[in-house]
Amino acid sequence: LATAFERTKPHVNIGKMGSHVQFVGFNADLSLLGTIGHVDHGKTTLTAAITKHQASKGLASFLDYNAIDKAPEERKRGITISSAHIEFQTNDRHYAHVDCPGHADYIKNMITGAANMDGAIVVVAASDGQMPQTREHLLLARQVGVQKIVVFVNKVDAVEDPEMLELVELEMRELLSTYGFEGEETPIVFGSALCALEQRRPEIGAEKIDELMNAVDTWIPTPERDMDKPFLMSIEEVFSIPGRGTVVSGRVERGLLKKDTEVEIVGGSTAPIKTKVTDIETFKKTCDESRAGDNSGLLLRGIRREDIRRGMVVAAPGSTKATNKFLVSMYVLTEAEGGRRTGFGHNYRPQVYLRTADEPGDLTFPDGDASRRVQPGDNVEMILETHRPVAAEAGQRFNIREGGRTVATGLVTRVMT
Ligand code: GDP
Ligand code: MG
Repeated sequence: LATAFERTKPHVNIGKMGSHVQFVGFNADLSLLGTIGHVDHGKTTLTAAITKHQASKGLASFLDYNAIDKAPEERKRGITISSAHIEFQTNDRHYAHVDCPGHADYIKNMITGAANMDGAIVVVAASDGQMPQTREHLLLARQVGVQKIVVFVNKVDAVEDPEMLELVELEMRELLSTYGFEGEETPIVFGSALCALEQRRPEIGAEKIDELMNAVDTWIPTPERDMDKPFLMSIEEVFSIPGRGTVVSGRVERGLLKKDTEVEIVGGSTAPIKTKVTDIETFKKTCDESRAGDNSGLLLRGIRREDIRRGMVVAAPGSTKATNKFLVSMYVLTEAEGGRRTGFGHNYRPQVYLRTADEPGDLTFPDGDASRRVQPGDNVEMILETHRPVAAEAGQRFNIREGGRTVATGLVTRVMT
């Protein structure tokens, strides 16, 4: 990098998937952002243009097109293995670009690993409009947990008719909504990656890179550190202490809780139970606060033991909701990984392990195809319904078990009810 690495800016990785999918990601809390879109719509040109433009401000080292696209052999096989490290900064954040494999193993890693994809830039050529891979990559982005997308409508230099641009915008907003993204609110930037790279026509080149960087910085949330998030502890055990009341214990997942604070007990039913934590015990010592990483016991005011169960969570009021219907991505374990020997189909009913909750669940295909089957080793998108509501948000990981084995491991990509 031309400039010193600044720890004060959130660090972002941009990964380039094979098959012309490029992903960008934050390193701080391992949430990711990527560049996706149809082949030849200008993803590599845009990436080069971004490094060039940011380099002109001392925020990157310029990498030309060939340096970014340097693995043609691997691309031919549809797999990008090498890591081309590209880094740049904006005024707000630090980004890094790494090559990520675009094959099924990469999707598996995204579903089973710790990384959450927080956003993507979808590149669509104004001259073509949306194409099959535009749609395919939006689905892929959703499957790996992306919540926020920014659109770059590229090659506006090659389009004469302004109505054409309006049409592309309209279609993209519709398509984003179809795939469960916020189509109406999504920022759309119109420009030319090639003009930006060749430093011509700044009104559609350099200025549009600034607009794009601004859209990415503002629309895609900065990953929060666990400590800065609203308090949440998943309940492992419930005790009744004579003369004092009900105590729940568990490991604090995120946030900070001070004694005598209002909380909600969420899970089991859709309505939260409101209460107050009147005492906190961590490592058998009473203390004034409980924070992410602590194993704590919380004394709850006016709560009967029988109203609370393992699997419910203690959370900052309004910070999480209990739901029982989710769109999920799953990786189905192979027999060698401890999974089933055979696959499963529509209406599969295993046990769902989510945080400390353990609930029966129903798995169905989004298209309702009762004849379809999933095989060990597959990545699959399904609808999960738990019998009782559980506290979970997009990005939540869970396991599917049956008869003592882990059948699949999954990621909640959308909350459906
Ligand atoms: P990718 O497959 O999505 O990575 O697309 P590339 O970045 O390789 O670009 C494909 C082709 O489109 C190349 O010949 C680029 O020079 C061209 N291209 C990229 N951006 C623009 C642009 O803004 N205007 C025009 N006219 N051509 C562009
Ligand atoms: Mg490319």
